[in-house]
Amino acid sequence: MITIKNLNKSFGDVHVLKGIDLEIDKGEIMAIVGPSGSGKSTLLRCMNLLEVPTGGEIIFEGSNIADKKVNIDEIRQKIGMVFQNFNLFPHKTVLENITLAPILLKKMSKVEADKKAEYLLDRVGLLDKKDVYPAQLSGGQKQRIAIARALAMEPDMILFDEPTSALDPEMVKEVLDVIKELAKEGMTMAIVTHEMGFAKEVADRVIFVDSGKILEDDTPEAVFNNPTHPRTQEFLAKIL
Ligand code: ADP
Ligand code: MG
Repeated sequence: MITIKNLNKSFGDVHVLKGIDLEIDKGEIMAIVGPSGSGKSTLLRCMNLLEVPTGGEIIFEGSNIADKKVNIDEIRQKIGMVFQNFNLFPHKTVLENITLAPILLKKMSKVEADKKAEYLLDRVGLLDKKDVYPAQLSGGQKQRIAIARALAMEPDMILFDEPTSALDPEMVKEVLDVIKELAKEGMTMAIVTHEMGFAKEVADRVIFVDSGKILEDDTPEAVFNNPTHPRTQEFLAKIL
């Protein structure tokens, strides 16, 4: 689905991504782990063009989206993103949060968009919240709404950037369960996470990113039980 070749990203003098090579197949679930500041978010943000790569290629469905000529809106419709801090629109209701992009970008009618949003809200167990504002929701509920909002665009792939890191512990499961459901249905996903148990259970592959480079790229068993790089062992020893 997506092939990344020699991806580089600098912010001024700071060289953040240093030659990332990565392939994600259709239906594959890839977990991205690594220390804070290693470039995990920047990698995801490059994949849906929230950041412009400094060099390299990102081939998505056959075309290089790192190319300046590409239609960014079109790519973002196909590659959804879920953020650590939800990024819901505070002055819009739950239903409006979900229908805004389909109406604006997919030219869906309001009736059709509402119907789809209600179906998705039902799936994430929050249909009864459709008319409330984000401030009235718990963190776990906000994140489930954010996932429903991403799904409303019918993306080919969803990127999750630490979707449970801002949640109280008792809310982590309800969000991970929604992501697990999507995994079962075959959604292609890349998930930055510190939830190693979840990564082991759900991911087909794990990559370990350190200082802007991929040091491991293998099955969860191989990366967690048999890491090849001392930096990975050091990192895992700290968090497991
Ligand atoms: P991670 O998600 O692994 O914690 P990030 O991708 O957020 O890491 O950040 C990697 C490095 O890039 C950090 O040193 C961070 O300060 C820097 N960085 C990220 N975004 C920007 C930005 N917009 N401007 C300048 N530096 C940035
Ligand atoms: Mg990050």
